[in-house]
Amino acid sequence: MPYPESVTLIEVGPRDGFQFEKQNIPTSMKIDIINRLIRAGLTQIQVTSFVHPDRVPQMADAELIIAGLDVPSGVSIDALVLNMKGVERACKTGLKRVEVSLSASDTHSRKNTGMTFDDAFAHGVEMIAHAKKIGLAVRAGVQCAFGCAYEGKVGMDRVRRMVETYLTAGADEISLADTTGMAVPMDMQRIPPQVLSITGKTPFTLHLHNTRGLGLVNTMAALDTGVSRFDTAMGGMGGCPFVPNAAGNISTEDTAYLMQTMGIQTGININAVAGCSRMLESFLGKHFDGKLHRLI
Ligand code: ZN
Repeated sequence: MPYPESVTLIEVGPRDGFQFEKQNIPTSMKIDIINRLIRAGLTQIQVTSFVHPDRVPQMADAELIIAGLDVPSGVSIDALVLNMKGVERACKTGLKRVEVSLSASDTHSRKNTGMTFDDAFAHGVEMIAHAKKIGLAVRAGVQCAFGCAYEGKVGMDRVRRMVETYLTAGADEISLADTTGMAVPMDMQRIPPQVLSITGKTPFTLHLHNTRGLGLVNTMAALDTGVSRFDTAMGGMGGCPFVPNAAGNISTEDTAYLMQTMGIQTGININAVAGCSRMLESFLGKHFDGKLHRLI
């Protein structure tokens, strides 16, 4: 399959990356970074998560962040929601789009939500239906789509059934997440094509982590099968709650650079994103997993 002329990189650093940091990042800094990412050409950004502040204190300022952003037309921001209350909170901020993401694994689901897969999934589908009813667009995600740290490989039947149910519930975008970074290139040849065959015109996005160093290799393998939307995080920030010292999402700058070398447009100013990564690295006093932001 020929490579696409352009790919869309969806910035998830302000959610997947920030939520992993124990040190509190000031709200004003988060807003400044997100505004810089918008100016750097990112057109879709996951800016926060509506989760109980006791569970993830870093996300306690979700409302303040959304109120503080000046989002130009052509840019879409969204937030992760974890329960019905989160859907309501997101809607009250004037946000137009939310993500509901559920695990394909029983054990991961129980540890993460305290519910069995069946219960968590039924609740998630109700959340999607409610969000649609009150006028929100919904991105619906499958966590652990490429494997679970507790259960190993996850059955394709389940992934397919989840995606089909999401589409029936009115999802506007489908994402498959390699939550624990277990995907390998062979999985990319097998799983995304099956999902693409049922998503049709509904946008399909891959959320890859670089836990075992295969993030960009998997990205290349997925490009080969027709995937053209990828979640990335500035500097490759973030980690994995199941693997100590693990790397985070694939890096926005490294992925944009890879695309640039193949003549594939992303519309992203790599230097400008790298500036955000370096600013955060010096504030947090750590090095993120990405490579390019430290070279330029
Ligand atoms: Zn993630």
